[in-house]
Amino acid sequence: MGKQPKERNATNRTQRRRRKYRGAQRRTSVFFLLWTILSMFTLCVVLFFGISQQYVLSKAYKDEASKEVSKKGATIEKAVKNGVPEWLDGNWSGYLRLLSLQHEARVFILNDNGEIVFPTEPSLGENHSDYNGYLDFTDEIERIKGDMQKTDAERTLFEGDGEYVYATQVSIYGDTLYLYVGESLVLMEQVVSHMNVRMVLMAVFTFILSFALASAVSGWLTKPLAEMTEKAHLLAQGDFSVDFHGVDYGQEMAELADTLNFARDEISKTDRMQKELIANVSHDFKTPLTMIKAYASMIMEISGDIPQKRNKHAQVIVDEADRLASLVSDVLDLSKIRAGIGDFKTEKVDMSQKIEEILDRFAYLKETQGYSFVLEAEEELVTRADEGKMEQAIYNLIGNAVNYTGEDKKVYIRLKQTGAEVFRLEVQDTGKGIKPEEIADIWDRYYRSTETHKRPVQGTGLGLSIVKTVLQLHGFVFGVESEVGQGSTFYVEFPLVTE
Ligand code: ADP
Repeated sequence: MGKQPKERNATNRTQRRRRKYRGAQRRTSVFFLLWTILSMFTLCVVLFFGISQQYVLSKAYKDEASKEVSKKGATIEKAVKNGVPEWLDGNWSGYLRLLSLQHEARVFILNDNGEIVFPTEPSLGENHSDYNGYLDFTDEIERIKGDMQKTDAERTLFEGDGEYVYATQVSIYGDTLYLYVGESLVLMEQVVSHMNVRMVLMAVFTFILSFALASAVSGWLTKPLAEMTEKAHLLAQGDFSVDFHGVDYGQEMAELADTLNFARDEISKTDRMQKELIANVSHDFKTPLTMIKAYASMIMEISGDIPQKRNKHAQVIVDEADRLASLVSDVLDLSKIRAGIGDFKTEKVDMSQKIEEILDRFAYLKETQGYSFVLEAEEELVTRADEGKMEQAIYNLIGNAVNYTGEDKKVYIRLKQTGAEVFRLEVQDTGKGIKPEEIADIWDRYYRSTETHKRPVQGTGLGLSIVKTVLQLHGFVFGVESEVGQGSTFYVEFPLVTE
């Protein structure tokens, strides 16, 4: 019973954490995006071609109709001006109907008011009895008269209501009348409306097709992504056996898989090292604590009254406490630098002077353990850096050289200008060197060579990681050159500040 609230809390926490990363699920899916893009694209193409085709077609048709009507109009005009042939015996209505049939056009003679003068009655098959009640040419006649007045022309050509019109003045029985010849545009309108229907059908078909295409393509595109997401979840839960593999269709996908595999390796390496650190650090913590406890007991039980012995024992306690303190401070330093806590403030730092100050801190090793530090430094080499952090990085490099140098216990430190605007620090030891396959790893957090070492300077496996973080923060070039059996040279290149 007592356990339940705890479990519920843990579940709530996990849910909260998941919810935090669930933003992606609210976004539009690849399928929907693809479908929208495809549909829009194809729709635009269909509309563009449909509309432009309509435009081109109707223009071509109208051009053709205008040519046709002006040709027909001229022939009919000539025929009308020649008068009714004898065999029709003055039957103007019959003559005009004949001309209509012959030329497949509507032919009328109109008066000044737009009323039909000839033919006088509808032809056979037309089921209305009164032309003038049925057909209204008022607008047309106004236009014809207007056009003729405006341009002072004898004939006019224009697009009327559903037909192309040719009109001219004619004189019949002494009256001034108007010949009206119309070429129908109905066929064109039929074609255009037919095309409109086809366009709508095509648009619907396009939508359906793009839906199918989008779902197929998005499925194909996102399947590997979904797989990778699934595997990344497993990785987040600590399963380092997952393998991300790219798919055949894209370099980007393969690169993503490579990157994820790289991330997995790095995370698993850090995880492994972290576990090793816990083992190492707890061991390192335990040794001085055991010593402190043992010597404190010894003082209490044996040497409490013998000042000489007591002091010696107390000194051991102090030294061991120092070891513990440095261990704790290394762990803290790195986590602080990593987390970006503590300000990063750059100022001018005279490195020539700084190196000497740092070496002073190692002076006790010269006296107590016979180490020698060979310093070759040019004067007044100044750079811009965060003084405290830089001091710590260089201290770590020299500390390592001390730890790993050879039997001769020598450490070489060189500081010299190597270019117009750059100077270089080298920390060289004469130790076993670093195996080429280990060089890339030594900068990693918690990495410690498998070989055990007796260390005059306390090490935690964090020293070089601190160096790397600090130097990367400054953007300085750094590295190591090492030959197995000969020793290693760690270097840093500083930008020179002159003014
Ligand atoms: P630590 O020295 O506390 O183990 P570091 O991060 O300072 O941790 O170094 C990581 C590893 O790099 C060391 O365990 C060691 O194997 C290797 N290393 C560092 N400096 C040197 C050096 N000067 N010579 C040889 N190996 C070195």
